[in-house]
Amino acid sequence: MIQNGFLVFVILTFLFSGCQKNLTEYSDIRIFMGTTVIIKVYSKDNNTAGKSVASAFDEIKRIEDIFSIYRNNSEISILNKKGSAEVSDEVRELIGRSKYFSEISEGAFDITVLPVIELWRNAKKKEKMPTQAEIENANKFTDYRNIIINEGKVSFLKKGMKADFGGIAKGYAVDRAVNILKKSGIKIGMVNAGGNIRCFGGKIWFIALQNPREKKDFVTILKLKNKSVATSGDYERFFSLDKKKISHIINPITGFSAEDSISSTIVTDTATDADALSTASFGLFAEKGIKLIEKYKNAECLIIDKERKIYKSPRFSEYE
Ligand code: ADP
Ligand code: MG
Repeated sequence: MIQNGFLVFVILTFLFSGCQKNLTEYSDIRIFMGTTVIIKVYSKDNNTAGKSVASAFDEIKRIEDIFSIYRNNSEISILNKKGSAEVSDEVRELIGRSKYFSEISEGAFDITVLPVIELWRNAKKKEKMPTQAEIENANKFTDYRNIIINEGKVSFLKKGMKADFGGIAKGYAVDRAVNILKKSGIKIGMVNAGGNIRCFGGKIWFIALQNPREKKDFVTILKLKNKSVATSGDYERFFSLDKKKISHIINPITGFSAEDSISSTIVTDTATDADALSTASFGLFAEKGIKLIEKYKNAECLIIDKERKIYKSPRFSEYE
């Protein structure tokens, strides 16, 4: 499934500091991880820029091949099938990071929600609301504490558990892509994977946050330099069952989709953290979501709740 709309637009892109005016812009766009990925860089030489951007896209594809649950042979599909597997350092580390986000969000972020997600996906196909018993049954497998990491091996304590990286892998891919760009000598750039954005270098990027209920309008404009931003919302990916709106983020306590917020936007240093924290805080009541982010050093948050009330963490306005 391709997500067409972005939750954000990058609107203006030139505010260089001093001596960088002889740089030219190079940008390209591809589809990966079920979404549109845009990379934009500024460089003195278009040829080098083209090669760097191509390597960054290759890196995103590499991450997709590892973490996708839609590829039978991905490391994650194999782990999900076997329940226990030797994994690469990279997979082990992202699972460790995911568990960390589960801990700080009191379980609101939990990659083991895949059986529940599959139940809802099936319900959508059949156009039939699952029963309470079916939901509880699928949700028995949800518990990040049952993922055991032991040196190079990852094991699930319960048979039938499965992990889904949809709430963190795009952010991780953006960080990896930025790494590749920097290593290949690019000093200023931005990677945007479906609204998971990271910008780097001596330039301020202006990013408009779309109004979740009025697509042509925006809530605020962010001014970011060397930062990441991500938004989780109920308005790009959802479906209806019995006139109830089912969004794609699961509340791991109830097994239902999270329903208290319309959107949650996080600004922080890395795209991995922004992605995971936006999914985590979306799942919590707005006030609780803000509290979670306040505890997290270097992150700011804007949450819009069901009544369209806007909540901001204390220093969010520093980015507006
Ligand atoms: P998007 O993929 O639309 O950018 P998010 O980053 O918020 O949105 O991630 C949503 C995805 O995360 C879902 O599609 C699903 O794959 C996964 N997910 C759903 N609920 C949870 C949860 N409680 N914890 C972690 N991941 C989740
Ligand atoms: Mg996310």
